[in-house]
Amino acid sequence: MERNYSEKWQEYEKNFDHAVAEEIVRDVAYYRTLLSNIVMIGAPDEEWVLVDTSLRRYHNRILHACEERYGTKPPKAIILTHGHFDHAGSAKKLADHWQVPVYVHENEMEYVTGQKAYPPGDPTVGGGLISLLSAAFPTKPEHLENIVKPLPSDGSIPFLEDWRYIKTPGHTLGHISLYRDSDQILIAGDAVSTEKPESSWSVLFPFQHIYGPPAYFTEDWMSAEQSLKKIAELNPETIIAGHGIPMHGETMQKELKELAANFIERAIPKHKRH
Ligand SMILES: [Zn+2]
Ligand SMILES: [Zn+2]
Repeated sequence: MERNYSEKWQEYEKNFDHAVAEEIVRDVAYYRTLLSNIVMIGAPDEEWVLVDTSLRRYHNRILHACEERYGTKPPKAIILTHGHFDHAGSAKKLADHWQVPVYVHENEMEYVTGQKAYPPGDPTVGGGLISLLSAAFPTKPEHLENIVKPLPSDGSIPFLEDWRYIKTPGHTLGHISLYRDSDQILIAGDAVSTEKPESSWSVLFPFQHIYGPPAYFTEDWMSAEQSLKKIAELNPETIIAGHGIPMHGETMQKELKELAANFIERAIPKHKRH
């Protein structure tokens, strides 16, 4: 049963104020910031790694959520699914604070080292307020020179032996998702969403369904479709996307397959289907 909005709202406010991560399994937790999720991999008594860093100026909230779970023990590294402002925004502040390296896919390096800007957000893709605002979203490259390194090219992830990364380009050229085969958990970044990310209404009150990548910022729809098909073939048990509350189980798996099979009609804005 769908809970009513005021209940959801209260829960959202509570989590937002107290900045506490929610545990998915013993060694994976996520923390939902206003616009996007960050993920912590590692049990509280183990070494750990942070995936994504939300917006700029969120570092204090993120630190709080991490310290609630790990005390002052720093992560071994920060992994970015991609370099967009809502995923890499607090990377520099956090990496400086913890003195840890940041990793991205090599095809994303130029966008986080001040060399290349992303194309501007496209407000014409429709879907709601966030799309309309997206033209004003920052696209300037992050400056992580000196602290960022490319991920190994063999799909392995430093410090995470039982995880691998999967190349999921399309939303950005060097976009990756993280996957653990043993329990089929996928950390999808923006390769897939579990809320309609273009709408501010659904950002506040997410309806849980599987959607394509945030349209206003997706660069290459052909690759995005291939990436989504690749994800659907993995048949993940759990998806933690960059936007939306994590989803688990059969309904999600069914929706993911349906989206993969009908990607052009379901995910690509009408005037971009060429
Ligand atoms: Zn993105
Ligand atoms: Zn995003």
